[in-house]
Amino acid sequence: MNKGIQQNEKYEMSLQDIWKAKKRISPVVGKTPLLFSQGLSKLTGSNVYLKLENLHNVGAFKVRGAANKILSLTPEELANGVTTFSTGNFAMCVSYLAKKLGTKAVVCVSKRVPKTKLDKIKQFDAELEICGVSQDEAEQRCYELQNERGLTVIHPFDDPYIIAGQGTIALEVLEDLPEVDMVIGGLSGGGLHSGIGLAFKSTNPNIKIIGVSTAQGAVMYESLKAGRPVSLEERDSLADSLLGGIGLENIYTFEMVRKYVDEIVLINEEEIASGMGFMADQQKMIVEGAAASGIASLLHQKINDLGKNIVLIVSGCSVDTSLILDVTQNYIQTEK
Ligand SMILES: *Cc1c(COP(=O)(O)O)cnc(C)c1O
Repeated sequence: MNKGIQQNEKYEMSLQDIWKAKKRISPVVGKTPLLFSQGLSKLTGSNVYLKLENLHNVGAFKVRGAANKILSLTPEELANGVTTFSTGNFAMCVSYLAKKLGTKAVVCVSKRVPKTKLDKIKQFDAELEICGVSQDEAEQRCYELQNERGLTVIHPFDDPYIIAGQGTIALEVLEDLPEVDMVIGGLSGGGLHSGIGLAFKSTNPNIKIIGVSTAQGAVMYESLKAGRPVSLEERDSLADSLLGGIGLENIYTFEMVRKYVDEIVLINEEEIASGMGFMADQQKMIVEGAAASGIASLLHQKINDLGKNIVLIVSGCSVDTSLILDVTQNYIQTEK
């Protein structure tokens, strides 16, 4: 990836981009632990490991891609500031990094985004622009800001730097568990699976890559079925970080997920809740719905042909404490 890749100019990614990302982000993003799960291993008869991306200090793996992108900007671009239209973990990560690197972040959100999310973004002193009633309008506003104020738009997933940054998870897993043969994680826009898919399949094409999406908004799944990017109406989900579209003009992640992901499974709200409850009660860890999706896929036997050495990507922990308490209480009463 050379400086100045144009938005619509397709770049052919390779494993080398992911190694470059690893080097670039190492000053700001720490390696996360890989933890053997006694409980899930016993349950499945496989060796199950948890890649603890919930332990980043911003609470989500997306800090990797965001850091790779922001650290690739020219000094002038960095000084001018950045803007993004993702409302959840990605905006939090961009805001966190902008603050850390001493620049400005403007987050564009639609009127429908709830206050709790906005409060989190404000925590890192990002400027909020409330514009329109949909994510599309927020995205459009970002590009206006690029023209008006010289801010650089940071796309939440469909960008080679973001994809390469997310792919660094795979390099760390391969370092700690070179015998890995199956990797499972929450799939939404596909930045995560594009990056780890490229890294794992370049290393060994037999490593199986599984995506888990919420039945409340499985946009990538439906797009692959249709053979082109489609959009769906959004419904609420406990795995709120897995909601959102893939963009009808998708450039990278649709093709990469099609190429690298072996299977996509869908899980419902009850299953997501049990995954969160299991993590709290059995693993003593608070994780968000999206991060519990892989656990749920094992608890509910969604995957037919399990690997011997399975890694679950525990992708984040942005969840209200009251919600996790409710879900855990319910898990203790019903599942045990
Ligand atoms: C964004 C996100 C995902 C999905 O990542 P994509 O690159 O959008 O597919 C999974 N888990 C969490 C916690 C996330 O924030």
